[in-house]
Order: sequence, then structure tokens, then C-alpha cells
Amino acid sequence: MKKVVKKNERVGIQIVEMDVEKLLKTLNQAYADEWIAYYQYWLCAKLVEGPMRTEVAAELAEHAQEEHKHATLLADRIVQLGGTPILKPEAWVKHAGCGYDATKHAYVQAVLEENIKGEQCAIKTYNSILAMVEGKDPVTYDIILSILADEIEHEHDLVRLLSSLKGIKLV
Ligand code: FE
Ligand code: FE
Ligand code: MG
Repeated sequence: MKKVVKKNERVGIQIVEMDVEKLLKTLNQAYADEWIAYYQYWLCAKLVEGPMRTEVAAELAEHAQEEHKHATLLADRIVQLGGTPILKPEAWVKHAGCGYDATKHAYVQAVLEENIKGEQCAIKTYNSILAMVEGKDPVTYDIILSILADEIEHEHDLVRLLSSLKGIKLV
């Protein structure tokens, strides 16, 4: 007879030295934020207008793909821990930690500033998740660390684009 390994018999879950339900809730919140970030970048890449439009749009489109990759990493870990990624898109906004600020202005400076704000929230969120799982769940720690490094790069990229843009305006 085939032996079915139950969720609570999985050593991979047992070694997590913290409340797995609480961890799943936190990971799902980050998962919701990633879908929102993906959509925001994806849409802004199409709408952005103004100087350096092509360059900014390319960077935004690239970030969209990277946020989508983060959503994938989080979903895989949630499933691995015995959880379910948020099933309904309408729940993304409800559960998001950083929330969704709909784009009000397509001008390049406003778009960059808006997205920088989003990245700064993401950096703070992932930094606090790292502290939460440190020494308790090395696999999640590793995943979150790689996402945090990407978010720091995103902030840096956008800040540099904004500086370049302001430089252009001063001439
Ligand atoms: Fe992300
Ligand atoms: Fe990001
Ligand atoms: Mg980039």
C-alpha cells in the first residue's frame, strides 16, 4: 500500500522553528505585494511620458518581470510549507502590506517617485521578514535575502534615473 506523507509529517516543515501559520500569513502578504508591484510596473512602463521615456519604460518593464519572479519564489515557498497562495486577485489589495497606490500621473518624474516609494516599503518589509526568520527557517531566509537584494537594486536604479532626469531639467 502506498504511504501518503501527511503535511505534519514532513521533516522539511518540522524543522521550521517558528509558527508556520504565522509565517505563511507573512509570506502571503508579501506575495500580494509582489503581484501589485508587478502590475504597477507593467502598467507604468506602458503609460510613462516625458524625457527619458524609452529608458525609463525599459527599466520599469524589467522590474515588472523581476517582481513577477518574486511572486513565483514566494508562491513556491508557501506551497512547500503546506500553505495556499492567495486565491483571489481581489484579495491582493486587502492583504497587501504596502498597498496599492494607483498611478495618478504618467509624467516620468511622478512615476519614478511613486515607484521609489513602493520599493522603500518593500525593502523595509523584507528586512523585517529576514529578522523574523533568521535562525529559524534558513530556506525562507535565503529566498527573502535574494528578494531584498533585488528590491535594493530597484530602488537604486530608480533613484539614479530620477537624478539623471533632474540633471536634464536643470540644463
Ligand atoms: Fe519584489
Ligand atoms: Fe522591486
Ligand atoms: Mg533594474
